[in-house]
Amino acid sequence: MSDRSPLVKCLVWDLDNTLWRGTLLEDGQVSLVPGVREVVRALDERGILQSVASKNDHDLAWARLTELGLAEYFLYPQINWGPKSVSVTRIAAELKFALGTVAFIDDQPAERAEVAFGAPAVRCYDAGLVGTLPGLAEFSPAVVTVDAARRRQMYQASFRREAAKESFAGPDEEFLRSLELQMVIKRADEVDLSRVEELTLRTSQMNATGVHYGDAVLRELLADPGHEVLTVMLADRFGPHGAVGVMLLQCLPGVWHLKLLATSCRVVSFGAGAVILNWLIDQAARAGAHLAADFRPTERNRMMDIAYRFAGFAVAECGCLAALPARDPGSGIQCLHLTAEPRSAPTTMTLTSPDLAASHTPARTSPAH
Ligand SMILES: [Zn+2]
Repeated sequence: MSDRSPLVKCLVWDLDNTLWRGTLLEDGQVSLVPGVREVVRALDERGILQSVASKNDHDLAWARLTELGLAEYFLYPQINWGPKSVSVTRIAAELKFALGTVAFIDDQPAERAEVAFGAPAVRCYDAGLVGTLPGLAEFSPAVVTVDAARRRQMYQASFRREAAKESFAGPDEEFLRSLELQMVIKRADEVDLSRVEELTLRTSQMNATGVHYGDAVLRELLADPGHEVLTVMLADRFGPHGAVGVMLLQCLPGVWHLKLLATSCRVVSFGAGAVILNWLIDQAARAGAHLAADFRPTERNRMMDIAYRFAGFAVAECGCLAALPARDPGSGIQCLHLTAEPRSAPTTMTLTSPDLAASHTPARTSPAH
């Protein structure tokens, strides 16, 4: 493998004589190949998903994986008598991964050849290499973010959520309430910065300006009392959604300048964008500030455009805008304005957030009487 090969996003395991020693249906009891548990855990912590393609009795094999304490690590396991190229392709389709990001490990040359023939983009590894996998470049992401380490749990929560949604007959708002959504908006710290950067890079659909703020810039702004760098986390009764939004805000007296808002497209259907904007508008209102938001319309961020307009932002003249830095007319960035008024708390989720208004309300001059 050259170091140009893309990172592996999912490793698919054979079981007999690959994950465990022996053949389950012949030997009855099988034990793990030494070191395998550590490899499974190491890849999981790096955010690499794992699955199983095994020709075996499904119930027996799954029971053994459960006894071994490994079942929870495998998403969409394919334990059946069909061709493994079909199993691997099905796993990739369920995860919405390209086959070129999937790897397969098996002790049988014939099985590896079958996968290589039926799904040529999949990278195949001999079971003898198992202990070396964590050391290979394609299994070594440069940065492991907090969310990457929880990627499997986030997928599993998402399966349970989808299943609950399919079996739910009531209106959408009732379904949202049944999720027991909890949003946490917090001031970013150093640890959060990796999430912030990941989000601004990944969320072009939901990034209001398309401007990417690098780590160094954000690190500087964390220390600047006039700026707020905020992250948004969402969870529900099925588990975490992880970091789903980031805001970069400059709080000037009389006007708060929203320089960046990016949210994950995973949470659009929960109305997260509207909840974030309403919270911000309410905070600005309590600080006696107007809001100005940078926005650059693109083909891909129409949902964000709608969220801003729906919240009440518009292109408008206002004296407060004179406080903002002059913008480069060639940048294509519009300035949307809103005269902030108090907003009510969300009805579909609980919200925990810092009190920005308290930190950024200008000190009153002495009363006139
Ligand atoms: Zn204004």
